[in-house]
Amino acid sequence: MDMLTGTRTATVAVNGRDYRLPERPVAVVCLDGCDSEYLDVGQKAGELPFFAHCLAKGFAAQALAAMPTFTNPNNASLVTGVPPALHGVSGNFYLDRATGETVMVTGDAEMRAPTILAAMADAGVPTAMVTAKDKLRAALAKGLPIGPGIAVSAQHASAARESTHGIGDLTALLGQPEPDQYSAELSLFVLDTGIALARRGKARLMYLSLSDYVQHRHAPQSEEARAFMRALDARLGTLAALGWVVAATADHGMTDMARPDGSPEIVFVGDLLDARFGAGTTQVICPITDPFVRHHGALGGLVRVHLRRDADVPSVDDVLATLRAEPRLLEVLPGEEACARYGMAPHMEGDVTVIARRGVALGSRAAEHDLAQLAGERLRSHGGLAEQVVPFLLSEPLSAAWLASRQELRNFDIFDAALNGVEVRP
Ligand SMILES: [Zn+2]
Repeated sequence: MDMLTGTRTATVAVNGRDYRLPERPVAVVCLDGCDSEYLDVGQKAGELPFFAHCLAKGFAAQALAAMPTFTNPNNASLVTGVPPALHGVSGNFYLDRATGETVMVTGDAEMRAPTILAAMADAGVPTAMVTAKDKLRAALAKGLPIGPGIAVSAQHASAARESTHGIGDLTALLGQPEPDQYSAELSLFVLDTGIALARRGKARLMYLSLSDYVQHRHAPQSEEARAFMRALDARLGTLAALGWVVAATADHGMTDMARPDGSPEIVFVGDLLDARFGAGTTQVICPITDPFVRHHGALGGLVRVHLRRDADVPSVDDVLATLRAEPRLLEVLPGEEACARYGMAPHMEGDVTVIARRGVALGSRAAEHDLAQLAGERLRSHGGLAEQVVPFLLSEPLSAAWLASRQELRNFDIFDAALNGVEVRP
C-alpha cells in the first residue's frame, strides 16, 4: 500500500524479492562484455549522449557481476535476481559429476530458479525477451508463456513465429537482413527489435541481451569499438525518448590477455598438472567453452580442475600446492570454498577452482585450444575477478530509500533498481 495515495501497488515475488509491476514501460539491457572503459572512452570524447544523460540526470555507477564472470551465469542472474548458487547456471560448459560426461549448456535444463520475466508475464505484463544468441533465448525463456510473452533471438531472427516466439519473422518486422552471428550488427539488431516492439506497443517490460563480439575483438580506444558504442548509445537513447525507463548493465567486463608482442598470455593448467602428476590424471574444464569459440579460443579467467574418482593421486592438496606455485594464478581454491566465497553452484564446480591474475588467460591443455581462432588478434577475454566490475546505468534517478537498502550493488539488482528504485513521476 502506498502510504501517500492509498493505492495498492501490485508486485510479484520472485526468488525472495518483490518486484513492482511496471508503471512506465521498462527495458533492461545486458551490454554483453561492456567493460566500463568502453563507456569512459566515449564519454571523454563526448560521443555518448545517452550515457551522458544517465550520468547527469539518471543514475550511473559500477556494480559487481556474478562469478564466474561468464555470459550464461550472469544472464541467468540478471533475469532471476540471484547468484548462480541459487539458479544453478555456473558456466557455459561443465562436467556432470554424476555421469562423468561434459555438458554444453544449450537449453533451459540447468535453470533451477524462476525468472522475473516469466512472473511478470504471468501477472499480465506484456513481456519480451530479445537475445543476440539463440542458445541464450532457449535458456532464459524458461517458464515465459509464449503468446502473451515474446522470446526471440537476433541470430535466428527469420525463424521467429507467432506460435513459438510470440512474434513473427523479425527480418520482416525490421526490414533488415538476419545479422551475421560474428558481427556488431547482431547486438544492434537486438536493440532495433526492442525499439520496434516499443513503437508497436508489444511490450511493457523487455530484456534485451547483446553479444560481446566487438569487445572480444576490439579494445575500447579502437575506432571499431567507438563506432559500436555510438550506435548502441543512440538506440538506448531512442528507447528512453519513447518514454521507457532504460536500465543497462553488463554480464562481465573484458580484459586484454596478450603480451606486449601480441601473443596470448596463457597458463595451461592441464599441462602443468600433467607435467607434475602424469597425463590424464586430472580433467580441466574451461567453463567459457561455447559454440562461439571464435570470440576467445575457449580461453578465460577461470577454470575448474576435476580429480579422477578411481585414483588417489593427485589429491586436492597436491593440486592446490602445485598450482599455487604458479605466480600468474591469483586464487587456487578447493571448489566448495570457491562456491561459498563467490556464490557459485556446487554441482558445476570442480574439486579445485583456479582464477587467473588480471591479464592472464587460463586453458586446459595447449593441444586442446586452437589459437588460430584468434586470427592474429590480441586475446581479450573474461571469467575471473578482473572482469567483475561492470557499469550499472539507469535513464532515471534512483530513490534514496532504494539506494540506502543496498550494501553493495550487484549487476543482478538491475530489475530491482528499474522496477522498485525509480521514483514514479506523477
Ligand atoms: Zn558475455
